[in-house]
Amino acid sequence: MTLTSTPAINWDALVAALGDIEVIREPGQVEKLSKDYYNFSPVLVKQLADKTGDLVVRPKTEAEVLKVAKACVAAKVPVTVRGAGTGNYGQCIPLEGGVILDLSRMNAVKWVKPGIACVEAGAKLSAIDKVTRESGWELRMYPSTYRTATIGGFIGGGSGGIGSVLYGQLRDRGNLIAVRVVTMEDEPRVIELRGDEVQKVNHAYGTNGIITELEIPLGPAYPWTEVIVAFDDFMTAARFGQALGDADGIIKKMISIHAWPIPSYFVPLKPFLPEGKAAALLMVAEPNIEPFGELVKAFGGTVTYSKAAQDASKGTLLAEFTWNHTTLHGRSVVPSLTYLQTLFLTDANLELIEQLYHHFGDEVMMHLEYFRVGGKVVPAALQVVRYTTDERLFEIIQYHEEQGALIANPHTYMLEDGGMKTVDPVQVDFKAQVDPYGLLNPGKCRGWLERIGG
Ligand code: FAD
Repeated sequence: MTLTSTPAINWDALVAALGDIEVIREPGQVEKLSKDYYNFSPVLVKQLADKTGDLVVRPKTEAEVLKVAKACVAAKVPVTVRGAGTGNYGQCIPLEGGVILDLSRMNAVKWVKPGIACVEAGAKLSAIDKVTRESGWELRMYPSTYRTATIGGFIGGGSGGIGSVLYGQLRDRGNLIAVRVVTMEDEPRVIELRGDEVQKVNHAYGTNGIITELEIPLGPAYPWTEVIVAFDDFMTAARFGQALGDADGIIKKMISIHAWPIPSYFVPLKPFLPEGKAAALLMVAEPNIEPFGELVKAFGGTVTYSKAAQDASKGTLLAEFTWNHTTLHGRSVVPSLTYLQTLFLTDANLELIEQLYHHFGDEVMMHLEYFRVGGKVVPAALQVVRYTTDERLFEIIQYHEEQGALIANPHTYMLEDGGMKTVDPVQVDFKAQVDPYGLLNPGKCRGWLERIGG
């Protein structure tokens, strides 16, 4: 059965069925909690600005999630899961209204053992780190939205971030150990997925199960020094980034490279970002700072800022200028700016990056993040783009693809069209099993729409 046969919904009856579970019905609040950072994309703004849920439900326990699932299945109400709503592609914006299932109240860190933690889905990444660091462990990776994003949302919609230069991406085997998932069957159940089975719900935009609890791997908690290095030109900064990524003896958590004028958008860091120069924003393990300094010297860079690990919690976090925070800062100065996400998996000498950098000049400003793919450190670009029209944006994307760069299109809400995923039959099969009425985040999974002929 699909939603097209859904009868009119009696919202009062649904709320009554939820008993004392927290429900928000005030339209302004519901609208706010129906949105994410889709407005980074002028294309998505046109498609999603008027989409909103009908009410928000905030369970505190897995038992309450089961109760919500049962009531929503009975009434055939769409359910869109929400963590903190920091996604970029309208991932948690409901296309067909219904319930916004806000899991932010389910935020316990249940246990920590050496190298592994068990957490509820709504736990914020920074809050998890705070607990695990007490015993010398930390999250392997986190997005630049570390302070606000939840672990459930990171798994549901994220890809990687700070730490990915050491550990790869969330999709890599080993970066998610186990999940508990609530189903949307007539009699909702809790299913535990372990080993490769976790891939059934990993990065599925909440379309095939409600993740309530996760076991996640941890890494040793190094003291991280935050450093800015300025370079006269962008390509030297990019080559330095690659060399630092390749330097196996220097442990680093973040290598973020920015062509001028991007640093001019980082207003709070202005004193450390010389006019006209490229900048590298870095996190390096404190015991490796001396050899790191030698590498900086070899590339002719100038260290303009250094914050010792003991001051990590004070002042500005450099991580909050990297990954997609770069676009955020750009947009706070020039609101029409947008961005691209580009992978350079076979550009060992950075020749394609150099060509694209010169080809587009100021229209597509280069911003690289180094991360590990298949054992090698490679750059990804989150270029900041001066938007003019949708046609021009698609022309820019097409040019990148023609030159051999891989674009993970951030201007689509469709799961399979964004992160270079193809339809994943395993995820669609799992959806057929656990969400037979297609109620979870409807309209986002192309594989499901094809299967039901929608
Ligand atoms: P939400 O936005 O609430 O949800 C994301 C998706 O997951 C939605 O489809 C939702 O339905 C689904 N979901 C949420 N919780 C669950 C659950 N419990 N079970 C099943 N599905 C669920 N992303 C990166 O990967 N790396 C980055 O460095 C990065 N930087 C960013 C910087 C900025 C400025 C912004 C605005 C976004 C950035 N993002 C980045 C995207 C986003 O912040 C992250 O992916 C973040 O982890 C999402 O977490 P959230 O709690 O906000 O999820």
